[in-house]
Amino acid sequence: KKRNGNEPEFIQAVQEVLESFEPVVEQRPDLIEKGVIDRIVEPERFVQFRVPWVDDSGKVQVNRGFRVQFNSAIGPYKGGLRFHPSVNASVIKFLGFEQCFKNSLTGLPMGGGKGGSDFDPKGKSDNEVMRFCQSFMTELQRHIGPDTDVPAGDIGVGAREIGFMYGMYKKIRNEFTGVLTGKGLTYGGSLARKEATGYGLLYFTQEMLKSMKNDSMKDKTVVISGSGNVAIYATEKAMEMGAKVVALSDSSGYIHDPDGIKLDVIKQIKEVERKRIVEYTNRVSGATFHEGCKGIWTIPCDVALPCATQNELDGEAAKTLVKNGVIAVAEGANMPSTPEAVETFLQAGIMFGPAKAANAGGVATSGLEMSQNSLRYSWTFEEVDAKLQGIMVNIFHNAYNASKTYGHEGNLVMGANIAGFEKIADAMIAQGVI
Ligand code: NDP
Repeated sequence: KKRNGNEPEFIQAVQEVLESFEPVVEQRPDLIEKGVIDRIVEPERFVQFRVPWVDDSGKVQVNRGFRVQFNSAIGPYKGGLRFHPSVNASVIKFLGFEQCFKNSLTGLPMGGGKGGSDFDPKGKSDNEVMRFCQSFMTELQRHIGPDTDVPAGDIGVGAREIGFMYGMYKKIRNEFTGVLTGKGLTYGGSLARKEATGYGLLYFTQEMLKSMKNDSMKDKTVVISGSGNVAIYATEKAMEMGAKVVALSDSSGYIHDPDGIKLDVIKQIKEVERKRIVEYTNRVSGATFHEGCKGIWTIPCDVALPCATQNELDGEAAKTLVKNGVIAVAEGANMPSTPEAVETFLQAGIMFGPAKAANAGGVATSGLEMSQNSLRYSWTFEEVDAKLQGIMVNIFHNAYNASKTYGHEGNLVMGANIAGFEKIADAMIAQGVI
């Protein structure tokens, strides 16, 4: 805390994770002796850089770029890039720290990293986004590589941004390699990557309902926050599983459609026209728009899936969800529930799937994209989707079993942290104090 006093999100993430290691550390004093805990909270490397670019009016703009290379004990650094005005060192470090355990949980050989910029792609022209991405990659390229560090997308970084960054990397390095994931299908991308985080979230939730309560998503009423990549494909899979999604949001507010969200309308507004979610009410009768994001959690539902951003679901919202009869909550976004909210769900005995387990489908499929790039081969959609499903089911059981082994059966927050941690800790010990 003393060393990172001005980094609240990072401290919040570390605190949550370290608390759940207590039962492991009690049984394994070697983790303290070998300095594993002290080393694991300190990133191996953190770079910050200037990103200058010229806007459409000819004015020079300067943004700040970041990459944290947190832990490479079990594989090359891997984690997304986020472009959003709220990005700072604390946010990048919290995301990078969490990423280590999430990647470990997937069972694939990937270390943890994260990066991004305080650049806001919203309202920028395609040319401005391209010039920004090119400038960003001009510096980032010296720190990454297919066997070193493989970034991907996150908030504000989708197919368009990945394409511009990949083009610049290729130009500077003169090599066509799998240095980024989330690439377009014409240049090394994987089928099902776009859908992976949202679909994976539902595969996890379905397994959680089945294993813990002999239940399923069928006929459930679902509230999903956000309307970006994760939220849209979570909605799609939830509907395929027979559930009804009644609300979605963006940073301006939320829409409520009691008859069930029309996904084709949302995709047109968000993916094609890049407009605000309020537009939905102009196209679908019976739907209402409400300003402000937090109100979305007052809508009664069986399953709540926060898929927008960190700390979007607080203690108050959690209490309202519980009061309204929610039975399961699974996190599509990273750290969307505040510590008070998590505590409320656990105390109330609600099934709770924490982000690093529930949303690991995205990075798992990125891992599969890396494998396909190394093989110079492409798997079919069905092949990738089947592997994703298998990985998500495994993640649930690994987290569940760890929670049981350490005496907190069903506490998946603790289980996911421990299951992810043990593999990294053993690899760090085997590799000596470095
Ligand atoms: P997108 O940029 O596609 O969408 C983000 C969505 O969240 C948008 O609807 C956005 O609304 C909303 N949002 C962003 N910031 C805020 C805020 N401060 N308050 C309220 N709403 C906000 O991002 P993704 O869908 O890719 O990512 C969503 C979350 O999922 C993030 O936490 C990300 O880290 C996590 N995640 C993503 C993965 C992926 O594969 N994409 C993988 C694992 C985790 P608006 O348009 O108004 O900004």
